[in-house]
Order: sequence, then structure tokens, then C-alpha cells
Amino acid sequence: MADTATLEAGADTATEHFDILIVGAGISGVGGAYHLTQQCPDKSFAVLETQESFGGTWLTHKYPGIRSDSDLYTFGYRFKPWTSAPIASADEILKYMGEVIDENDLDHHIRYNHTISTASWDGTAKLWTLEVTNTETGEQKRFTCNFLWMCQGYYRHSEGYTPEWEGMDDYKGTIVHPQTWPEDLDYTDKTVLVVGSGATAATIIPAMAPDAAHITMLQRSPTYFVTGRNANELADTLRELEIKEEWIHEIVRRKILHDQAQVTKMSFEHPDLLKEELFKGIKEILGDDYELAPHFTPKYRPWRQRLAFVPDGDLFHGIKSGKASVITDEIVRFTEKGILLESGETVEADIIVTATGFNMSVLGDIEFTIDGEPLNFHERVGYRGMMFTGIPNMAWVFGYFRASWTLRADLVADFVCRLVQHLDDKGASVVTPELRPEEVDMKLLPWVDPENFNPGYVMRAAHLMPQSGDRQPWQHSQDYWMEKDVIPAADLDDGCLVYE
Ligand SMILES: Cc1cc2nc3c(=O)[nH]c(=O)nc-3n(C[C@H](O)[C@H](O)[C@H](O)COP(=O)(O)OP(=O)(O)OC[C@H]3O[C@@H](n4cnc5c(N)ncnc54)[C@H](O)[C@@H]3O)c2cc1C
Repeated sequence: MADTATLEAGADTATEHFDILIVGAGISGVGGAYHLTQQCPDKSFAVLETQESFGGTWLTHKYPGIRSDSDLYTFGYRFKPWTSAPIASADEILKYMGEVIDENDLDHHIRYNHTISTASWDGTAKLWTLEVTNTETGEQKRFTCNFLWMCQGYYRHSEGYTPEWEGMDDYKGTIVHPQTWPEDLDYTDKTVLVVGSGATAATIIPAMAPDAAHITMLQRSPTYFVTGRNANELADTLRELEIKEEWIHEIVRRKILHDQAQVTKMSFEHPDLLKEELFKGIKEILGDDYELAPHFTPKYRPWRQRLAFVPDGDLFHGIKSGKASVITDEIVRFTEKGILLESGETVEADIIVTATGFNMSVLGDIEFTIDGEPLNFHERVGYRGMMFTGIPNMAWVFGYFRASWTLRADLVADFVCRLVQHLDDKGASVVTPELRPEEVDMKLLPWVDPENFNPGYVMRAAHLMPQSGDRQPWQHSQDYWMEKDVIPAADLDDGCLVYE
């Protein structure tokens, strides 16, 4: 690979070349940039980002109360200590990411306002070519690279998922999706109905409740909630003992991951016990006499969908205060003033918030071709959930659903850096995952096991996602506790990765 970036005057568009291009400056892309500077300092690279700044999810989401639902000791990077309360606001996460960029001089690598529309692999030139629009100037640009690192996240930032309900046009109030929150929306003394009961609803409701006249959470089916203080006792104790922040970060990460592994084990082995524990946390706030069914008693096993953490039990304090309430029912249709439910009840509201999820964006809505052929991603099989059969020199980051996303972003980054070095060591310039002869006829399965994890946005996009095999390394396990040992030890010459 070339050591430095080159700028070539093409016939119509200037072309810039880098060894590696990273797509996206969210937590994954910024992390990738950091790891490249540390582990592959001789490689040229750039990060192309469509937004005007870094942060991805934490930049584009503006709804009231926006915060993480996992702790920042594990959602933060392995290499940069988190020093505040575990659950963080979007602003705190952006500040943390900004420090990573400043401290490591990453800014000059990032090109903001750069939207990638196509990515084409040319097997003869052994290069990716990206067609890019500068959204500020309208200028068309072309970038080439040897290796493409997809850190584009998993959903479309521009528009959330809202189901089509009958009568939506009749409704005279305001409908908003959390993903495209109007910053000037005034909800003071308004009645608000939030459709959905995932982490987003659990964040918005306590944030809006003090100012709204009343806020109702309408759910089709209940979610498991974990209540707890937004504090980490171990971190606080270690700080009192004046332990270095680097050590605190590492120790607290290990403790949290250890505890999470216990919870996962318990969800499989003793689901009823775990349910009781979760219910106990809610009853501590709402009182022993509060009837948890039907609003807080899901039918599925805990952990099949992400458990929504409610810091300091704020959602339940909102319910206890009478400012917030819950309805478990199905929408028949919208009316002029609100919603008609299957039970026959109508709920009136000035504002309806559709906290109904994401539209998956597979590969950043970029049109991919491999040697002129359009890429049908669903026909490909994932190698350890990070590369794909027949797609040369490309890796993507798809983090964990249950554990923090960034744990996997760090693991994939180490893998990519190791692979890039391995290519150099072998004197090769192309690496492509291919099924070995004994795997060609193996059974192909969905990208993630729907028995194990099945939120709506994943199920809706299953037909667009790559497939998995019936054995490793062709599976996407979503198991941090397995992958933390297996990925760093993966044999790069086991025949699954073909070099030229
Ligand atoms: C509200 C909310 C809260 C969440 N909370 C947590 C949490 O607490 N813990 C957790 O583990 N996970 C959480 N998640 C999941 C979260 O999205 C990930 O953890 C993480 O932030 C994803 O980071 P990313 O960099 O991979 O992707 P993103 O944050 O989606 O960033 C991808 C970037 O790529 C850019 N991009 C995409 N396509 C293109 C293109 N074609 N051209 C140029 N640029 C492009 C986007 O503009 C974006 O900036 C949450 C998600 C949401 C929506």
C-alpha cells in the first residue's frame, strides 16, 4: 500500500487516494481512526462523514433527555477513561469524543459534509473508488482506497420508522418522531402521547413530564426495565482511594462486564428469578400494591431484546407523580384529536411522539458494485460478522446489541489493523473471505439468530442483511464474552481469508 495520500487530476473529477477510507465519524469511525494512528502509523487514511460534525447517533438525536442506555465505562473506548456518572447525555458523549479527536490530532483526517453515494471495487486495479458529494459546495469528488472500513452505523439518520396507521391525515395535532425532533417544539402544558416503550420512550417521558400537562406511554407490549442509581459504587470508591483514572476505567469495565455476563446466564438458566429482580426494582418506586401486569410484565424471556435501563428510576417516579401514565393496547386508527384503541378507549393528545424505531440502513445506503456487478449483500456470508464472502478489502463494524456497541468497535478495529499489517507482511494487496470447500454446502442462516435477538428493526431488514453459516467463523454471535478471546486470536491463514 502507498504510504501517503496522493491527489491526481482526473479527466473530470479530482481523485484523492488513501490506503484506508473510513465511512462515518460516529463512535465507531472515530475509534477506527484512533486505532489506525496507533497500530498502523505508516498508513494514510481519511474519514468521510456526511454530517457537519462528529458523533453520529449522538449528534443527530435531539429529543428531550437524549442519553445513553448503557454505561459509558463500556460504551466509552477501551483507551480513554470515562470519569463521570455511567449514564451520559448526548452532549457528554460528544465532549468525550471531541477530546479523543483533539488529544490524538484526528481532526485533519476527517472530511465533514462528505456523502458517499457509490463504492466500486475494481479487481484489476485492486482499488475501491468512492463517488462523494460535498454537501456544502455541491462539488463531486472521487476517492480511491485499498481498504474500505465501514463505520456507517445501522440505521438511516435522516428518517425514523413510523408505521402507517389509518387516519393519520385526520389528526389535527403534531406528530413527531424522536429521530427528527423539531428543536422549537413547545410542549409546555400540552398533553403528549408517546407510542412505544423502548429505551427512547423511557428517556423522553421523564424528560417531558415536568413541563407537559400529562404524558402517556402507549405500548403494544411491555418492555423489561432495569432501575438503578446513575452511579457506579466501585468507581466512586476507587476514586476516593485516589486510584488512577486509567486503572478505574479498566477495573470498572471488568466488573460491569462480569456482572452483565451473570445477568445473561441468569436469563437463560433462571429467567423467573431474573424477572422477579427486575420487578422488585419497579415496585420499590411504585409501591408493593402496584399491579405490574399488564404494563410491565413482558411475555418474552428477559434479554431477548435489550433491557432498557432507567437511571434513578425516573420513568417510574414520573408515573408515581401522576404526570405520566401507561396504556397497553393496540392502535386501531388515528382520529382528529388522538387515537382510537382496540379496547374502544380513545386517547386525546396535542402531540403524538412515534418512538417506533429505526429504518435499518444497510451499508450506509451506498450503492456497491464489485467489478461492475451490483452487490446483493443478502447473498453474502459474514466472516465473524465483520467481512463478507466475495467482498475484497472491506470490513464493517456492527456492534453489540446487549453489551455496549463500542466493545465490538474496539475489537473489530484491532482485527482490521492486524489484517492490514498481515497483508503487508505477506506482500499481498487483496484479502477476500471465501467459504472453504467443506463449507460450500453448509446451511445458511439469518444474520442474527431471531430466537436470540429479535427487535423490530432487525426483523424488518432481515432480507437485506448478509447471511450466517451454521458454524464459526461464519457466524455473528453477538457474544462479547466469546469474541473478546476469539477475535484477537483468529488465525488469518486458516483458509477462510484468501490473499492475492
Ligand atoms: C438514541 C440512541 C441511543 C443509543 N444508546 C446506546 C447505548 O447506550 N449503548 C449502545 O451500546 N448503543 C446505543 N445505541 C446504538 C448506537 O447507535 C451505537 O451504539 C453507536 O453510537 C453507533 O455508532 P456508529 O459510529 O457505529 O454509528 P452511527 O452513530 O450511526 O454513526 C455512523 C456515521 O456514519 C455516517 N454515514 C452513514 N452513511 C454515510 C455515507 N453514505 N456517507 C458518509 N457518511 C455516512 C453517519 O452520518 C454517521 O455520522 C443507541 C442508538 C440510538 C439511536
